[in-house]
Amino acid sequence: MKLALLFLCAASLLIKPGKGNGSFCYDEEDCGPKSWEDTCNKGRSQSPININSNHKILSKARKAQLYYSRDYCQNQDFILQNNGHTIQASVRADLTSTSYLQGGKDNLANKRYVFSQLHFHWGSNKDHGTEHTFNNKSYAMEGHFVHYSSEFNSFTEAVDSNEPNAVVVVGVVYALSNEDNPAFTPVLKAMSKLKKAGDSTTGTKLNLVELLPDQERFYNFQYNGSLTTPGCAEVVLWNVIGNRGRISQTQLQQFQLELDGHSKILQDNVRPAQSLNNREIRVYDTQITLSQNSHPGRGNGGILFPRRKNQGWRG
Ligand SMILES: [Zn+2]
Repeated sequence: MKLALLFLCAASLLIKPGKGNGSFCYDEEDCGPKSWEDTCNKGRSQSPININSNHKILSKARKAQLYYSRDYCQNQDFILQNNGHTIQASVRADLTSTSYLQGGKDNLANKRYVFSQLHFHWGSNKDHGTEHTFNNKSYAMEGHFVHYSSEFNSFTEAVDSNEPNAVVVVGVVYALSNEDNPAFTPVLKAMSKLKKAGDSTTGTKLNLVELLPDQERFYNFQYNGSLTTPGCAEVVLWNVIGNRGRISQTQLQQFQLELDGHSKILQDNVRPAQSLNNREIRVYDTQITLSQNSHPGRGNGGILFPRRKNQGWRG
């Protein structure tokens, strides 16, 4: 039962019986976002949103640290599933609690967030694949790294708490590039064994941190929002990275070979931007730190993450 639960996506875990949420989709002529009910259409803190990222906004960014635990940065075995709405990678249950991130005192309130799963949203073309948009522009794909506060025992428990900071999702936007991004190789290798909704398999050597943008510093846009699939619970402290990751056309096309729950091509699994209402978006100039031990952020375990040099800001 525990393993079966891992195969369910964030959204599926939240299905309320009798509401028909299990059949949600992205086609407005069928079961698309406009027909999603309850918190999805009544909530005032919904996600995704459009993010304005001009120079004036970026110049006000506050310095912040983000610490990643050792296992978060190492190759890991994982489970990959086509759940009909997305392709989702979960690290094996026995390793889950050792992959986590932690912020500084003014970023994520010094709390620890345990990695739960990573999934993707992508389009039928390169300009319609991200849920979050920057200056109303969308890109090829968005990855959602989903975490729950270590104050809870599981992702489900965190969502059920209905607390606004119970879940942290790090959103990474991938723009199309000419070259393959080798960080996707483990996912694509496993995905070649999937085809239709409900298929799952195992893979090896997934390095989560390698799927972040190449920089060791990045702009992080933080705001309070929701899950982007029904029931759209408003429990997410979003951290959308302003710098782009990359994916090639060939790699993206592999995602477009998968089928959704209606046996159609799984693509355009993108909820449109929601009203910001009067929410604040906080901008952080964030330094990534990799821990050498299992307790990041406690003053003795952090080293600067040995990644490529800053390639320039791309807000
Ligand atoms: Zn998502």
